[in-house]
Order: sequence, then C-alpha cells, then structure tokens
Amino acid sequence: MERTLILIKPDAIQRQLVGTILQRFENKGMKIAGLKMMQMTEDMAKEHYKDLVDKPFFPSLSEFMTSHPIIAIAMEGAGAVGICRKMTGATFGMKAEPGTIRGDYGVSTSYNLIHSSEDKSAAERELKIFFKDEDFFSYNAVISQWIATEE
Ligand code: UDP
Repeated sequence: MERTLILIKPDAIQRQLVGTILQRFENKGMKIAGLKMMQMTEDMAKEHYKDLVDKPFFPSLSEFMTSHPIIAIAMEGAGAVGICRKMTGATFGMKAEPGTIRGDYGVSTSYNLIHSSEDKSAAERELKIFFKDEDFFSYNAVISQWIATEE
C-alpha cells in the first residue's frame, strides 16, 4: 500500500484547518499511518526542500516553515501519492483549482496550507525526514474492504 507525506503547514494550524484537511483525505479513503506535531528545524527545511535551497524565496520559505509548529502525516492508501497531490492543488492558492485544498482555502502565494509529495520517490525520501520506521502504524481499518478493491 502506497504512502505519501502530507505536511500541515503553520498557516493551516494557525487557521485551525487541521480537522478540515484531515477529513478531506479520510473521506477520500486515505488512512493515517503516522502523525506527528513538531517544530521543523532549519536543517529539516534544507533537507526537505533540498532542490529549492538556491531559490530566492527559500529564506522566507524556511522562516515560514520553522516559525510555528507543523504536523507531519504519513497518508496511506491506494494511489496515495498521486491522489493526495491532486487533492492538494497547484502551488499558489490564487491559481489552485476550486475543489482542491489549496484552491478552496487560500489565495496566498507563500502560505499554501499543506505540502504533498510530488511523486513516489519524493514520498519515500521525504517520509524518512519526518518518521522513523517505528513511527509508522500498520493496522486494518474495518472499512478498508469497502474502499480499495486491491487490498
Ligand atoms: N514557494 C514560495 N514561493 C514560490 C514558490 C514556492 O514561497 O515562488 C513555497 C511554497 O510554500 C511551496 C514550496 O515553496 O509550497 C515548495 O515549492 P514547490 O515548487 O515544490 O511547490 P509545491 O510542490 O509545494 O506545490
């Protein structure tokens, strides 16, 4: 079963959208395999956004991500990486499609509520930054047989 990394960013926590965001993924049929509230460090920001460290916006991105707590979630489900990414929407709230999380709850270019891994290899790499092996939970949700036929 596929897992992806969702980060609930500081703006979503400050705006008390945590429940709303989790609900949308759960309603779709995703299952929480790991969840942690934490203060992201500058080193973690550099590692997580390693392809962006040279971009002009990186200092403000790092400042934003490390200024207030975040919540890291290992989201599990059939096709989790692609589905969660699609549900997240385009990078900037202003341009994100209505029906996506960023499209429905934001207009900002820098505060965009959540992170969702781009592809399977990014998901694998990024999950390791936030979770140790023992932080993941494998359990059978009783409703799973009604959600994904491949299980
Ligand atoms: N970002 C920003 N300014 C930009 C581009 C990106 O502040 O011009 C931030 C934004 O929070 C975004 C993150 O950097 O979510 C990572 O950028 P990426 O291009 O990977 O977008 P994402 O995969 O999050 O849609």
